[in-house]
Amino acid sequence: MAADGSKRLLLLIPTSTYRTEDFMEAAGRLDVDLVVASEKPNVMAGEFPDHLLTLPFDDPEAAARAVAEYARARPIHAVVPVDDGTTLVGAAIAERLGLRCNSTGAVATARNKRRLRERLAATGVPGPAFTVFAVTDDARAAAGRVRYPCVLKPLVLSASRGVIRADDADGFVAAFARVAALLADPEVRALGEGTGEILVEAFVPGVEVALEGLLTENALTVLALFDKPDPLDGPFFEETIYVTPSRLPEATQRSIADVTAQAARALGLTDGPIHAELRLRPAGAAPAPPVPVVLELAARSIGGLCSRTLRFGTGLTLEDIILRRALDLPIASLERERAAAGVMMIPIPRAGVLEKVTGLETAVALPLVEDVTISAHPGETLVPLPEGHRYLGFIFARGATPAATEQALRAAHAALGFVIR
Ligand code: ADP
Repeated sequence: MAADGSKRLLLLIPTSTYRTEDFMEAAGRLDVDLVVASEKPNVMAGEFPDHLLTLPFDDPEAAARAVAEYARARPIHAVVPVDDGTTLVGAAIAERLGLRCNSTGAVATARNKRRLRERLAATGVPGPAFTVFAVTDDARAAAGRVRYPCVLKPLVLSASRGVIRADDADGFVAAFARVAALLADPEVRALGEGTGEILVEAFVPGVEVALEGLLTENALTVLALFDKPDPLDGPFFEETIYVTPSRLPEATQRSIADVTAQAARALGLTDGPIHAELRLRPAGAAPAPPVPVVLELAARSIGGLCSRTLRFGTGLTLEDIILRRALDLPIASLERERAAAGVMMIPIPRAGVLEKVTGLETAVALPLVEDVTISAHPGETLVPLPEGHRYLGFIFARGATPAATEQALRAAHAALGFVIR
């Protein structure tokens, strides 16, 4: 315990994450001794050496050793990685400290799209056919060995970065070169494992959903199921609107939850937040229900600022729930509020330098629109998909129905203007 008897919480916050503020605010609502670790030294680290740590997030073993050393005099009761980049190091630290957590093996499998596919296929969880090529393979020869349409993707990136659909051999060769070039980027190469390979999957048609869940003692609680009303047919897969509750039939929603739970079990994930992306592949014969296919299952919560759509019970945030669960504190309710809620991740329309954003006041004043946060700053160089991985910002709306909420998000987006040089 900390000097005042409260528990000590270690948050793993990479410098480039969107998730800092929401997790810090949630931690501030708890009676905990908070320790924040990042991969780069914080300017205040000298003044608060016990509360601001610098850890090598790219070397989980070394990070776990350093935290174990720290914890000898200052016991840590929970470790929470705030996003994708720290799930693995988070599991390594928690395992080392003997805290309840997912195994590093399970997290590593979920983190690597090839291993995820292999594990799900081996355990019979529905998924697309797939194959893997080395970036050094001859793209033209590879193009002759796959079926179309297909999707090429890196093994270790996120936010649809480097994910490209190909409809024929020429498209495949072009996409292959583009993914290979992205993987040759020094910053991407620094991610190490998996950057020498390209995964190619059969393109799964059908609508897409995102499931936000919490695993406790191996059981999955669905916290929210989001519809993605904009078609995601490629060639790049820009995330835009997420709206919850889902408008899909009850039975379909249940089958999505069942497949997600099955996938989590297959991966060996047991505890904490999960974020899954699934597609509903139309069944061959007409009356048969669509088959939920897992595209991704990550041992983390939803990315960007999207969690701000969610409120539970009498007002808990998703981060409140994650931290309370990690610290074994009571959670009044995992029931999402009744209103519909939605977010639009504002995509980058083209490359350039952001000069200014117009229409902000108009957009925020629209009915049902709760907030518009522009996260890109003037002067920032914007890189669209498939190479980029940031958004211009986020629009939030809440309404009586999912349809009205979606409509409000679209209206707010239409009111915004982006001047890009
Ligand atoms: P990331 O982790 O970067 O988000 P994903 O593998 O989840 O990468 O792919 C990003 C998006 O690309 C998905 O949400 C989906 O829209 C699309 N996508 C990926 N793989 C497929 C596939 N096999 N079939 C159809 N769409 C896909």
